[in-house]
Parts: sequence; C-alpha cells; structure tokens
Amino acid sequence: MGYKVLWAPWRMKYIAMHQGKTCIFCDARSKSDDESYVIFRSSNSFAMLNLYPYNTAHVMIAPYRHVNSFELLSDEELLDLMKLMRLVLKSIDSEYRPQGYNIGANLGRVAGAGIEDHLHLHIVPRWLGDTNYMPLIAGVKVIPEDINETYSRLRKSINEIFKLSSK
Ligand SMILES: [Zn+2]
Repeated sequence: MGYKVLWAPWRMKYIAMHQGKTCIFCDARSKSDDESYVIFRSSNSFAMLNLYPYNTAHVMIAPYRHVNSFELLSDEELLDLMKLMRLVLKSIDSEYRPQGYNIGANLGRVAGAGIEDHLHLHIVPRWLGDTNYMPLIAGVKVIPEDINETYSRLRKSINEIFKLSSK
C-alpha cells in the first residue's frame, strides 16, 4: 500500500533508525518500550505500533527471535505469538471498536517485506468508509490520530485486559 502519510513527525525518528540498517524488531528488544512504541511484551514475542501506519492503531507483532519464517518458530513461540495476536485484537476492540481487521505477513522481498529477515504480523483495524476517495485520487492517506496518543491508549488497554485475563 504505497500511501504517503501527511504530517508524521515521528517518521524522522524511524528514518534515522534505519540509516544504520539495524533490525527494528531486534532493536525493540533492547530499547525501552516508549522509545520503540512497544505496547506489550509476552514471554516470546512483543507488540509494537507501526510507525508507518495504514490506519489508526496499526500494530505489529513479532517473536523476539530474529527468524524469517513461521517454520523456524517452535510450537511454544508460535502459540505465544497467536495468543499475543488475540490480546492485541481484544485491546483494539475495546479501545477503538473497529468493524473489521486486515491481518497479514509479507514473507520475502518479492511479497513486499520491508524488513525481510524478521518475521512479523501486521494487525490493521478497519472501519467502514476508511478507504475514502482521498487515497484513491491522491495516493495520500490521512491518519486521524497522533501516534503518541494511540500509544498511550493501546498500552493502557492491553495491560488492563491482560491483567483481567490472567486472574
Ligand atoms: Zn531482528
């Protein structure tokens, strides 16, 4: 989805991070949560906001281990990743009430992977009418909420839901 995002000051930070060609997912392991926009960490995986969002509350989930395919995950890692996906969905549901989701992975550069060596899943909430005429005519997509606001809302919500579910 080759959209340009209007007014996105956080992109500068993202671009700066990429000049060193480090892996943003491995980076997120060592950096603090708010530096990397990590909203939740489970035992084998973690969830972070996408700094190039296709929509508000676009989350990515990834295993900690730097592997490039599902086949390389252990059963335990796979289960942990799927449980994390469920938790992310619950928290976006409660905070943003989307009407649907697009969930997916780009495996390999030919499929459009930006960071092709570290497996991750995109979770993109959808609302009726969110693909309006503007992206179609101008190749421009307006993200209605500032990413820092999304970050504090989702981090709070996901931690609350996790606490309730583990009681
Ligand atoms: Zn990595």
